[in-house]
Amino acid sequence: MNKYLKSKSRTKIPDLVYFILTEKCPLKCPQCYNSDMRTKDMSFEVFADNYNQVRDIGTKKIALIGGEVLYHQDILKVMEYVNRGSLYCVFSTSGYGIEKVIELLEKSKIIHPFISINASKREINELSRDGYDYSIKAIKLLKKYNISYSINWVAHHSNVDDFSDLLNMVFENNAEKVTILQTKYNYKGEILDNLTIDDVKKLREIILNSSYKDKIMVDRCSDFFRQELLGLKIPVVGTGCCAGEFIMTVNADGKYQPCQHISIMSESKTLMDAWQISEAFKEFRKNKQGCIAEIE
Ligand code: SF4
Repeated sequence: MNKYLKSKSRTKIPDLVYFILTEKCPLKCPQCYNSDMRTKDMSFEVFADNYNQVRDIGTKKIALIGGEVLYHQDILKVMEYVNRGSLYCVFSTSGYGIEKVIELLEKSKIIHPFISINASKREINELSRDGYDYSIKAIKLLKKYNISYSINWVAHHSNVDDFSDLLNMVFENNAEKVTILQTKYNYKGEILDNLTIDDVKKLREIILNSSYKDKIMVDRCSDFFRQELLGLKIPVVGTGCCAGEFIMTVNADGKYQPCQHISIMSESKTLMDAWQISEAFKEFRKNKQGCIAEIE
């Protein structure tokens, strides 16, 4: 069991390690934290080295993020490497280029895609996200090939009223789960189109009255958000900003960050050094504030 070490404000090993596989993306989403000036791919060697480190310390799960993960120059090689290994792997994608990996996903039991889409209708989706056609195409293709997948939906003021339609659309297309994410700072340092308190109440009603209620998850970054949306009593440990406490990120250069939404970086040579002894992580844990904006 991965014990929580209270005196160190972290678990013994990270529960989950994110890999920023690429900073590149062909899309332009208004909500994105990743500036389109960024152009780096993680090299396959850096990926494989860190994958092996994660496996060897005993962490069981990784998440591939971008940029657009499927835009990585060696994406097939990366996915095949993952598929031969033992770690459970989720990855987020707009759906762009899903054809490249569809055959592999069909036979894989350990790779699970999350399609990012913010609305059932193009005009609403476009207020916060680009690539509507790619996402719809990916959803249809995953259904056709009977591949298990889930949805990432970022909550905005502009898409709350569409949420019921989105749920119907994706569950009719065999999605497994929908994860609600709270909008974070974009690359301009702004929170785009954040929810109001009334939106949160509306969203809560939609969730409670939905026949898909048990398939709706909420990310754990904000206690307030989870508590309000799911009506859950929030445990003291394991929710709220989990950066550097339960999760960490390997960036495209192979450097270690508490979270991809936080620019703090450790110069440690190994993942475990960053987690256990790096001053950057220790300082971050001491002064932790998270990254998400309060709902007004
Ligand atoms: S910094 Fe914390 S609050 Fe922000 S995304 Fe990361 S884990 Fe969530």
